[in-house]
Amino acid sequence: MTTTFNLKQYGINTETIYRNSSVPVLYELGLRLEKGTAISDVGALMTYSGHKTGRSPKDKRVVKHPDSEKHIDWGDINIALDEHTFMVNHERAIDYLNICDHLYVVDAFAGWDPKYRLKIRIICTRAYHALFMQNMLIMPTAEELANFGEPDYVVLNGGGFPANQYTSNMTSKTSIDVNLERKEIVILGTQYAGEMKKGVFSIMNYLMPLENVLPMHCSANVGENDDVTILFGLSGTGKTTLSADPKRKLIGDDEHCWTDDGTFNIEGGCYAKAINLSEENEPDIYNAIRFGTVLENVVYDKNTRKVDYTDTSITQNTRASYPIDFIDNIQMPCIAGHPENIIFLTCDAFGVLPPVSKLTPEQASYHFISGYTAKVAGTEMGVTEPQATFSACFGAAFMMWHPNRYAELLAEKIKEHKATAWLVNTGWTGGAYGVGSRMKLKYTRAMIDAIHNKDFENVEFVRDEEFGFQIPTTCPNVPSEVLIPKNTWEDKEAYTEVKKKLVNLFVENFKQFEAGVNEEIVKAGPEVDMSLQV
Ligand code: ATP
Ligand code: MN
Repeated sequence: MTTTFNLKQYGINTETIYRNSSVPVLYELGLRLEKGTAISDVGALMTYSGHKTGRSPKDKRVVKHPDSEKHIDWGDINIALDEHTFMVNHERAIDYLNICDHLYVVDAFAGWDPKYRLKIRIICTRAYHALFMQNMLIMPTAEELANFGEPDYVVLNGGGFPANQYTSNMTSKTSIDVNLERKEIVILGTQYAGEMKKGVFSIMNYLMPLENVLPMHCSANVGENDDVTILFGLSGTGKTTLSADPKRKLIGDDEHCWTDDGTFNIEGGCYAKAINLSEENEPDIYNAIRFGTVLENVVYDKNTRKVDYTDTSITQNTRASYPIDFIDNIQMPCIAGHPENIIFLTCDAFGVLPPVSKLTPEQASYHFISGYTAKVAGTEMGVTEPQATFSACFGAAFMMWHPNRYAELLAEKIKEHKATAWLVNTGWTGGAYGVGSRMKLKYTRAMIDAIHNKDFENVEFVRDEEFGFQIPTTCPNVPSEVLIPKNTWEDKEAYTEVKKKLVNLFVENFKQFEAGVNEEIVKAGPEVDMSLQV
């Protein structure tokens, strides 16, 4: 606690402010004041986010302002909000923060590259939120904090208090409002901590293209020969799981930028799914759960305080947040060169996409814009059944510009740096969801190892008739029949039918982008082949 620091410039007069407090102090406050908070047997802080246990994308709003208006891709994702309504919600958050007995402030950085670094200030009401953001942002040294000055962007997290449903443009009691001109994000009606981190990501997604930098929803790691791999993918496709690879240094698990100099991580920590977590399958993540880690919405034994990672009675979206240095093999600082391999992860619940295939640059653009996965129970509220989803740039929910802006940047960079693009299906094999099963993690890891070891340089490929991908026919440590989806299906007719269905979903989805991209990219999409007629 400091006596000199205050928040009066925001109209907040709360006197007790814990700014960048130590982990033990945040533990003590959380345990004492936040209902349900407990310490796990290995020392993690187990916290509860309340009724929202995932992000609320439908409740995100962006203030329409003449300065930024022309850059924003307005629609269902970036829903416009007027300045006046923003101020109504802003004042509601400030009023709430003012009646709190004490507040937490996290002053920290987003972006490891000093050239593009933002100073972020989080103002929040819970020790859980402060510890979460201290894990997720890049923490300043004591000297950097002393010289911090004014932040570039401020997150006012009044999530413990609802939005007013009768405020214009509100469709629920939750509202996440981004104001690029005031450089503020206001959160009401959700205590899910992930909103803060993805809010900061949205800001980077707006700012970076202005400087010709590509912000990316991807994980990244680097091998012994300084070869960088980035792994794009929507929630649950394996970014965090597959980037934690003891053979390679982790750069980051979720948000990166690609500049003229190479790649940098936006964040200082990782946010791993904890569902079914086991030491055997994911040792690096399992062992990162210790004193300082925030465990969200997990269920534990009342006496032993041992977590049951298979228990999803609170949510399927249980999570662990820890600073990146809780992983053993990391790139520090989290900056590296240009990517050599670009992997698009998809979790195809239809079970028809090959588990690993090589893409042409045009196919890479096509699949980047499509952003296909099948959602099984995940991060977003209300999704419990699997369902095909297309989310441009593998993260449309966080993108602020039209997908073409990001796609152009990616295409330019792939071309300039001669990166190779791959599609890796971490989803179903042997049949669709319900019949088949999820690809074994050890097989997916072996396929990614093969990419890194250049094992696919000397193998035979077959062309996927409809999608046109090049599928390697052998891979070390993977049975060959697994590589060709059709071979894993007992019912070949069903395979053909389901594949046809998926091809049509791709074609339908891409129609909205056809006019805005060049012809080669449209042509790189799947074709409905005669062989698919059942
Ligand atoms: P988010 O954007 O929400 O952070 P993510 O892309 O980082 O999502 P992960 O946290 O890596 O996704 O989740 C992948 C989940 O799928 C993990 O729970 C992992 O154990 C499980 N899984 C099962 N089979 C595989 C596989 N073959 N490859 C990758 N992950 C798998
Ligand atoms: Mn992740």
